[in-house]
Amino acid sequence: MIVFDLGCDNDHRFEGWFASSEDFERQQKDNLLSCPLCGSPHINRLLTAARLNTGRAERSMRDEQAGGRKPAQYANFDAAHMLKLISHIVENTEDVGRAFPEEARKIHYQESPERHIRGTASPREVDALRDEGIEIVALPVPEHLANKSH
Ligand SMILES: [Zn+2]
Repeated sequence: MIVFDLGCDNDHRFEGWFASSEDFERQQKDNLLSCPLCGSPHINRLLTAARLNTGRAERSMRDEQAGGRKPAQYANFDAAHMLKLISHIVENTEDVGRAFPEEARKIHYQESPERHIRGTASPREVDALRDEGIEIVALPVPEHLANKSH
């Protein structure tokens, strides 16, 4: 699964989950995507801020003006799908808790065995990891799933 930053023709920004780039293109072509904020079917893939040096300052400023980071919005999942996906991720990842930023870095730099992990990180830590090119996904994990042990 990969996450793309998406935007609609009303300048809303949100994310969508896809199996691959081709999967995104197919869903776009078949009009399966719609903006979670206004319902517009005109969805385009955006370059992420992390890949655009010039986009970054502007984005942080806008976030601050808006009173902080908004929860992620998804183009192609309703709440039930999202919950299923999150359960799947929780069951297939190792919980490293607060050590997440450190552990994600170790895996990225091959100091730790490669595996899927989950844990908690502040928005600032998430930004720092993304700046280093580490692929991470912020998910709204409900409490009862987050604390599940196995
Ligand atoms: Zn929109």
